[in-house]
Amino acid sequence: MSRRLTRTTVSLAAAALLGSIAAVTAPAAFAVGEGPSCCTNGTVNTSILHTYDSMVAELKAQAAKQPRMQLEVIGQTIKGRDIHLVKYLSDPSNPTILYLTQQHGNEQLTTEGTLEFIKSLGTGKNGGVLDGVNILIVPMLNADGAMGDVDFSLDGYVASGGRHLTRYNAARVDLNRDHVAKAQPETKALHDKVLSVYDIDYAIDLHHQGTTSRADGELVSGSILHPTNGDVSAETLAGSKRLGAVVYNAIQPTGWGHLGKYVGGSERTIARNGLAAEYGISTLLFEMRGMSDHENESAVLGQKSNGYLIRQTVVTLTSTARAIADGSIDTVDASFWDTLPAQRS
Ligand SMILES: [Zn+2]
Repeated sequence: MSRRLTRTTVSLAAAALLGSIAAVTAPAAFAVGEGPSCCTNGTVNTSILHTYDSMVAELKAQAAKQPRMQLEVIGQTIKGRDIHLVKYLSDPSNPTILYLTQQHGNEQLTTEGTLEFIKSLGTGKNGGVLDGVNILIVPMLNADGAMGDVDFSLDGYVASGGRHLTRYNAARVDLNRDHVAKAQPETKALHDKVLSVYDIDYAIDLHHQGTTSRADGELVSGSILHPTNGDVSAETLAGSKRLGAVVYNAIQPTGWGHLGKYVGGSERTIARNGLAAEYGISTLLFEMRGMSDHENESAVLGQKSNGYLIRQTVVTLTSTARAIADGSIDTVDASFWDTLPAQRS
């Protein structure tokens, strides 16, 4: 406990110091903002997020409304919640992308943005993209963690709103370290009913990270990384880098978007590496700023930042689906990776 408190105190002090320096030196450059950190100048109330039940209700409503959308139950969580797969499979000869959210239950704005994206696919504005790409979506893989329905205590978590959200599944396992063993029902369902079944070309694994990371001296709105495991083929890696380029080109010019390079490991237990190595899927990890709940205050971002973070998910999904559908992903220049600054906490 003392370790946690010390770390929290130190990182909050560091963030405050960096914040004051940044405010003096570059007040206008911060489109991302100092971002209300949860417990100092903003609040985070989990009641504004979709619950698992309200998410499923929304998915069912959209499936009833959208002729091209199919909804399938691919398994159950430890606590018995159905895990859903959203399918838009217009033409088997089209390339296919998978979007995955909330392997970590406390990283929910990715799911909020994904629900908006799903709604947009039922409209004339965005629906045309489905002629050129097959889309698979697994939202809120870790529904038990997202609902705080777990077999361990969440007493130290900081969010208010009647519900806590945690990274782990009900058995306190990190699902994004289970992509080799596939020992948890959530990861097993993903592999048995999605990854092994469909010929998937691309995947984006959507997460949230802490609030204090910077690149080029500025707070990042998120960080991205391609696979870094030695078993991944050069072709798969090149596809991952092009997928990242599409995201970078869509996010970086927005004014609120500022991306760094995520610093991560090479283990195949992580989806970014494991899916690329096992299935030849060109993967991208996207870590958006700020979690929905955590034991450590510095990891949680106040809800005043929700707007641009949800938007960041919508832009990411929309831009990649379009670039795959129109084929522009095949020729996009991915050389930005050579100069993308690694983020630092
Ligand atoms: Zn995560």
